[in-house]
Amino acid sequence: MEAGIVGLPNVGKSTLFNALTSSQAAQSENYPFCTIEPNEGIVNVPDGRLQTITNLIHTKKIIPAALKLVDIAGIVKGASEGEGLGNKFLSHIRQVDAIIQVVRCFEDPDVTHVAGNVDPMADIDTIETELILADIQTLENALPKAERTARTGDKEAKLLVATINKHLEHITKELPLRTLSLTEAEAKVVSSFGLMTAKPILYVANVDENDVNGENDLVAKVREHAKQSGAGVVPVCAKVEAEVAELEPADRAEFLDAVGLTEPALEKLAREAYRTLGLHSYFTAGEKEVRAWTIPVGATAPQAAGVIHSDFERGFIRAEVYSVEDLVEYKSEKEIRNAGKLRVEGKSYVMNDGDVVHFLFNV
Ligand code: GDP
Repeated sequence: MEAGIVGLPNVGKSTLFNALTSSQAAQSENYPFCTIEPNEGIVNVPDGRLQTITNLIHTKKIIPAALKLVDIAGIVKGASEGEGLGNKFLSHIRQVDAIIQVVRCFEDPDVTHVAGNVDPMADIDTIETELILADIQTLENALPKAERTARTGDKEAKLLVATINKHLEHITKELPLRTLSLTEAEAKVVSSFGLMTAKPILYVANVDENDVNGENDLVAKVREHAKQSGAGVVPVCAKVEAEVAELEPADRAEFLDAVGLTEPALEKLAREAYRTLGLHSYFTAGEKEVRAWTIPVGATAPQAAGVIHSDFERGFIRAEVYSVEDLVEYKSEKEIRNAGKLRVEGKSYVMNDGDVVHFLFNV
């Protein structure tokens, strides 16, 4: 799973990226275009259930699910026409699974706003417009070739032409492609295009340090827009999070409490990202390691096994499944089995969030 952090210059992208990855790799300077190379970082997805499991199943190693973050700096008005290193950044966005857009909701006279004043809706609109224009270009560029192939009677090319036109009709009304419903076949023919407005998006409203829980008017507007365009919203104060990240882990809870926060941004962000992306987790648990794995909601047992290794999906025989709640109640796998709660599931089993699984497979 890879998410790209985007936003106009000076909205707090690098500050947030650094806080989340606790790395000093991304620069945070008070002027546009300072973070030119995309910076990458891996963050663990916090999940309290891992601790619950390891309290009962003794293990050598705990491995949380991971999320790769890419700091994609430099999107400005005109990016789709190559303005301000635009195309380079757009090509990074095409590669990620999801977009996290930081929007500025903090006032600070010392931090210049590229458009002159703090207006998160205008920020969202500026970037959405660039992504829409870039997607239109992608679709229009692909159309002539698809039409030529379709004229030879090629069935797939005909579907492609129809699907491109369906997309163009929607997106030229300035609607993001995320709000267009597609059949499975339609989604498949355009899947290689990397259409950016079709990707799930999460808005991080970067709020003031005096208002860390940030349910102010600006955030309310962002929420309203997000609702219509199928996005998620998380208010975060990047500056405070940067301070949290600098503390020893043992001191963080006290600091958060003192500033009025109940959890670090990463927990909120990870939870909202999973919800927006339609993801959840299952676990494998044994002496060697206890590990969380990320799957799309609706994935079947063989698909879940495939996340560990593609051979596991091909050779899937069955899965033995119980829930974290079962483990808490019965204290061990043996007792779960004795109580008749260890389920044996086949190929069509749809995974639940929090399933603990042993896969049996042929290789
Ligand atoms: P980027 O250009 O979007 O990557 O923005 P940066 O992370 O470099 O931040 C630009 C400036 O805004 C820096 O001076 C940050 O310290 C400051 N900044 C970032 N987040 C906040 C915030 O929540 N509150 C305040 N007051 N300043 C912030």
